[in-house]
Amino acid sequence: MEISLRTVRIFNRLLRKPFGLTSYRNVTGTAVKEEVNAELLNSFNQDIRNGGVVPVFRRALLFPTRVALQDEFGIYTYAGLYQAASVLSQEISAQLVGESERTIAYMCSNDASHIIAQWAIWMSGNIAVPLTPLHPPEMLKYYLSDSSASLVLCTQEYEKVLRPITLEMAKPLLITGRDNVLTAQLYQPNTSFLKPKAEDNLDDIGRSNSWYGKNEALIIYTSGTTSKPKGVIWTHSMLQTQISSLHSAWQYSANDVVLHTLPLHHIHGQLNSMLASLAAGARLRMLPSFVSHTVWSRLLGMGERDETKVTVFHGVPAMYARLVADHERMFADAKTREYVRATLGSRMRLMVAGSAPLPAQLFLKWEEISGMRLLERFGMSEVGMALSNPYRPVEARAVGCVGLPLPGVAARIAAVREDTGELEPLVTVETPVPETQICLDRLGLSAKDFFVQSEGYEWQAPKQTIHKELADNAFHGELLIKGPAVFSRYWNKAPKLDNSDFTEDGWFRTGDTASFEDGKFRILGRTSVDIIKTGGYKVSALQVESAILDHPSIADAAILGIEDESYGEIVAAVVVLKDNTKLTLRELKDAAGKKLAPYQLPKTMLVIDIMPRNAMGKLDKKEIRKLFGKQLELPKVK
Ligand code: AMP
Repeated sequence: MEISLRTVRIFNRLLRKPFGLTSYRNVTGTAVKEEVNAELLNSFNQDIRNGGVVPVFRRALLFPTRVALQDEFGIYTYAGLYQAASVLSQEISAQLVGESERTIAYMCSNDASHIIAQWAIWMSGNIAVPLTPLHPPEMLKYYLSDSSASLVLCTQEYEKVLRPITLEMAKPLLITGRDNVLTAQLYQPNTSFLKPKAEDNLDDIGRSNSWYGKNEALIIYTSGTTSKPKGVIWTHSMLQTQISSLHSAWQYSANDVVLHTLPLHHIHGQLNSMLASLAAGARLRMLPSFVSHTVWSRLLGMGERDETKVTVFHGVPAMYARLVADHERMFADAKTREYVRATLGSRMRLMVAGSAPLPAQLFLKWEEISGMRLLERFGMSEVGMALSNPYRPVEARAVGCVGLPLPGVAARIAAVREDTGELEPLVTVETPVPETQICLDRLGLSAKDFFVQSEGYEWQAPKQTIHKELADNAFHGELLIKGPAVFSRYWNKAPKLDNSDFTEDGWFRTGDTASFEDGKFRILGRTSVDIIKTGGYKVSALQVESAILDHPSIADAAILGIEDESYGEIVAAVVVLKDNTKLTLRELKDAAGKKLAPYQLPKTMLVIDIMPRNAMGKLDKKEIRKLFGKQLELPKVK
């Protein structure tokens, strides 16, 4: 029997009884010092050293009385979520007749029910497949069938959507009621409320840490903007490495109050915002979805108690664009604007943007209105977070760049050789693997006795290897990623690595074109859709989009390459204009011509009302092309 499982059992027994331990503060407390932590923490770290993984739900036992979550319905401690998840995990195990390592698809709103469902799936030793109600039934059917879901789990509000689908597909459906969430809300480890009945065997919550070290946790479907969504398998070990990487690079702390508005069927919301914060003992404030004026009011935190005021926000560029537009509408006078800037600038610790390119003009505008420099990072469902601007010094966060590899990530630029057609490495930049030991001290919790001294807690300087000397050392080509948190296969796809995803020596081919210059990576776009080959030049759609968004009349823009007889492809612009403005192609070219070379300028332009974007706020170029491609063609030369 492993030491940690034994300790966890002792702890579970304590959770069932009124607490007799020293100096517990209640739900709003910040410092947690408890005798049991030392033993538990040491055993967890021992397990990690032996190759095990301490899943996020089990880390909750290190800070049970802290507030983990505040959603629309109430406040939940870590112990409360853990307790509710353990009850649900028994229902899951009963449904699956004890079987484990099965895929369980679940649909919950962005609130406690999501965390409880996910932790319950993990406690029962199964693989969580998050679904979103934003997807139509046909897509949901695809996810259920592709992931070979053994069970579908949802809250009552989604029964209407999932009942007919599960009936048609002959899949069992488990509905979790609100009582489960109430259990979490009301549960306090130092009360005997909802004390489990004696026959409940809570001593066996979850598998051992070494089991989690070898097993799969999550399936995240790719956005499928260029092909059918593929299920990326996330192991518990990948999650643990990524969480450690983000903790050391962006300095997560138990004192963070994280405003969560991102969808949870995507790695950005799951990892950066939710799991990494919960693993740090932070307080999550979850909104059901992103609504700009609600986000503004939470960011400003007027009338709220200090310990609930938001300090961290993770968003996609489209969210920041909405916040900027509402800022212009809502905060008209100079005094209010100054108040907004002073409040955000003094209180927010970190505001991160990613999952899609952050246009330069938005980066600068956000700094102007909030006093905060956004930290832009690059990530993918397959690799989690890979590249990031620095956390410190703040001034080094650069416009239009995604910085350097995060801890544990190796990034490479490679180009296809014209003579042999082989992919040739140009430059590799590699950051040492992060320390995965849990250190409460680093998270702003507990006492010095637990500090584990190691350099790995810092984001260390990467090592750079130039494979091919170039005159200007500006490397340009396909972005490849390698490291312990990179996925190894898609669900339901042949287990053999196929060369279109990985190189023979195990580098993941991202499908993005990037450059590495002056010590920074820059993303130029998806090679298949954003790199436009026009008249012998290669144009990055992202660079053109960023430049034309500077125009005062343009609210939103997408650049496409449209097939053309003379040029191969032409650069074409689809734009949404700001209210009461007009714009001709000539005017756009005159303005953009100050920043772009003539061959980068759009040759055709179409004004539309609403830009097609997916649930993550990314431009849906497949849809844009389908809807508007024909209208963007140049007239045929007779
Ligand atoms: P997904 O797997 O849905 O997260 O999509 C990953 C893709 O989003 C990447 O391959 C990039 O094309 C794009 N992406 C993510 N972050 C950035 C960024 N900071 N700048 C530009 N593109 C990004």
